[in-house]
Amino acid sequence: MKNRGNLIIISGFSGSGKSTIVNNLIKKYNQYILSISCTTRKIRIGEVDGKSYFFISVEKFEEMIKNNEFLEYAKYIDNYYGTPKFFVEENLNKGFDVILEIEIQGAMIVKNKYPNSKLIFVSTKDADTLINRLNQRGSNSKDEIKKRIRRSIDEAKEVKKYDYLLINENLEEAINKLNDIINNDDKKNKYNNNFNIIKNIQIELEKKIND
Ligand code: 5GP
Repeated sequence: MKNRGNLIIISGFSGSGKSTIVNNLIKKYNQYILSISCTTRKIRIGEVDGKSYFFISVEKFEEMIKNNEFLEYAKYIDNYYGTPKFFVEENLNKGFDVILEIEIQGAMIVKNKYPNSKLIFVSTKDADTLINRLNQRGSNSKDEIKKRIRRSIDEAKEVKKYDYLLINENLEEAINKLNDIINNDDKKNKYNNNFNIIKNIQIELEKKIND
């Protein structure tokens, strides 16, 4: 184990499959540990409190903000999401590579505080795959899906701030690519090599939302 681990920030469009990739990466390699965030959103079917997130009330969340307990926090659509500070520092010091799976605003705050952290953005190869995955999730209402698509359009404009772009087509391949990006600085997945994919997704999503 290293003396101090690396901080890895993973973001991605809603429906990109980032949680599945990250959860499998962590099962496969013991160098990684996932930071568990707090959120005020409702628990989804299949999620476990304390594992997927710490599901807490708005009052409790705001108390934690006041007590300076978050490394970063942000509002995503109608809910708060935040990374508890203590866990991240403790595990970096133990030598783990700590993974934060967070949205863009939080990612930028963390990058400012930890300039050596790696920023990785996960996307599907096209807009249709993204929308199909959002629809399949079942626990999102039509209104919620629309909000998430709008948010993805905004995020697409900001993806250039990321170091790497991971296109998720096949789970096993995506897990290996992610591990390669983190350990070997895999140049093939640099953002600049794939930015057209994001531009096309943005255009397609804009068309869908205006239909
Ligand atoms: P979901 O509701 O789909 O679980 O998450 C919505 C968004 O919030 C995703 O982009 C997810 O990565 C992000 N998110 C989850 N935890 C945190 C966090 O602690 N901080 C920030 N800034 N975003 C988070």
